[in-house]
Amino acid sequence: MEPRIYLDNASTTPVLPEVVDLMADILRNDFGNPSSIHQHGRKARAIIENARRKVARSVNASLGEIFFTSSATEASNMSIKNAVTALGVKRIIYSSIEHHCVLHSVGYLQHAYDTESIPLTTDPLGSPDLQLLEQLLDEDDKKTLVCLMHGNNEIGTMTDIVEVGQICRKYGALFHCDAVQTLGKYKIDVQAANISFLSGSAHKFHGPKGTGFVYINNQNIIPPYIHGGSQERNMRSGTENVAGIAGLALALERASENMLSHYNHILVLRNEFKSLLLTNISGLSFNGNQDEHFMAHVLSVSFPPGPRADLLVMNLDIAGISASSGSACSSGVEEDSHVLKAIGHPPDRKAIRFSFSPFNTREEIRRTADTLKDLCSHKP
Ligand code: PLP
Repeated sequence: MEPRIYLDNASTTPVLPEVVDLMADILRNDFGNPSSIHQHGRKARAIIENARRKVARSVNASLGEIFFTSSATEASNMSIKNAVTALGVKRIIYSSIEHHCVLHSVGYLQHAYDTESIPLTTDPLGSPDLQLLEQLLDEDDKKTLVCLMHGNNEIGTMTDIVEVGQICRKYGALFHCDAVQTLGKYKIDVQAANISFLSGSAHKFHGPKGTGFVYINNQNIIPPYIHGGSQERNMRSGTENVAGIAGLALALERASENMLSHYNHILVLRNEFKSLLLTNISGLSFNGNQDEHFMAHVLSVSFPPGPRADLLVMNLDIAGISASSGSACSSGVEEDSHVLKAIGHPPDRKAIRFSFSPFNTREEIRRTADTLKDLCSHKP
């Protein structure tokens, strides 16, 4: 039997073997509590601080601006909710294609704190209207948080975060950036992009699940988000996930070192896959920006309506290929994608997201294209 093919890397990625080895070693040998002052504790503390150094360096932050969390979801909740409850934000401007951890935090604040929330429209390729952003900021000077993601997880469109940062600087707005899909894949400089808060997650760049981090610009002094034993300089109590934090930092370091070669490899896979699909299957279209400002690893393909299209993801799975319909959903139940709705995707067409990693091969891409050709052909 042929090995399974994994093309759902925007959902999560396989952990780098080197990261698994490091984490296993730490779990076996460096089990001390980082808050303990004896040698076991000091060793664990050193592992965390070394990891913090690596993460800070990778985004051009200072050490005191990086806090480890359980996920990007936690990082975004911490940033957005604190911006309102502690920093006096009265209005949030966000794009309607943000991840649910942003959208639902904004919804909560609107409900619980009466925070004004303004969704920015996006164009059909998924780019937020930055002219409208500027106009909104110009019209009203109430303290504002702008939430715009760097790369969209469903359709791959990227936003120019340096431009967003400049607009925010001009009007004194805070800027939260969900960089979950771009960290380790694209260069991010929190200072150049004038970012106030940035969220990241290890499992999207070949690190472990359940470990993330938040960058908080040191001009924004916010109170503890989780109360307890004062870990993470009192910002996020709870004994640290030492092995997970070390795994996150190593994975990010490796991704950053190999950024260009990984990008080139993935671009070759993407281009070959697209051209095979276009040659073999009629009536296809691609969602999100394809010409510029796109993440090479995410390809959202729309298939013409029909019973075969509805079953494509399941039939791919049966054929040994893991891809995703819409965004991953925690309950395992498929929901209509808010992103596809926002860009005006016709509801009768079936969108499938293929997402690549440096571990994928051209052979896998060809086998997937062949399988899709068979599944879409009208053989009985
Ligand atoms: N933001 C984006 C763009 C994502 O793709 C995801 C994960 O799917 C998240 C946030 C949430 O990350 P985590 O799984 O670490 O909570």
